Amino acid sequence: MLIAHLPSGYLLGRGANAGGRAMVAALLGSVAPDFDLLWFHLVDHGRVHHHDYYSHIPGFWLLVALPVLALLRWFAPSRLRIAAIFFAGIFLHLALDTLVGGIMWRWPLDDHLYSLAVVPARYGNWVVSFILHWSFLTEIAITLLAVWLFWRDRRGRPATG
Ligand SMILES: [Zn+2]
Repeated sequence: MLIAHLPSGYLLGRGANAGGRAMVAALLGSVAPDFDLLWFHLVDHGRVHHHDYYSHIPGFWLLVALPVLALLRWFAPSRLRIAAIFFAGIFLHLALDTLVGGIMWRWPLDDHLYSLAVVPARYGNWVVSFILHWSFLTEIAITLLAVWLFWRDRRGRPATG
């Protein structure tokens, strides 16, 4: 997924009626797994696909999210909703990456990368192959919906001095 992660985070936050820090959590969670691209480019130099990293493995995030959410519930319940929205953003990211990217949904049982479709390398540049694939219409739709709702919400706000 190339462009729709952040817009999908906005839709998640909006759907959760999140504002302020909760919306920031939704936006951050929706892009957080792709922070591994820094490691991918700067350390691994592209040798290992970044969907093979723990940051793109749902089982790993489940192992992180469950104890964090449990601890917050007991010790800082006022932070629970924000954390839950953040982790929801991460799982939304992984679900959207499953469209054509491949995600290890059954890890640790197996390390197969599951995807709903495969983008053939029709063009020399992989980005062009992704943009000209039908699946990119999904990204455009998510992005347009998010932009439209954001714009509509902003216009609906009363002007402040
Ligand atoms: Zn990703």
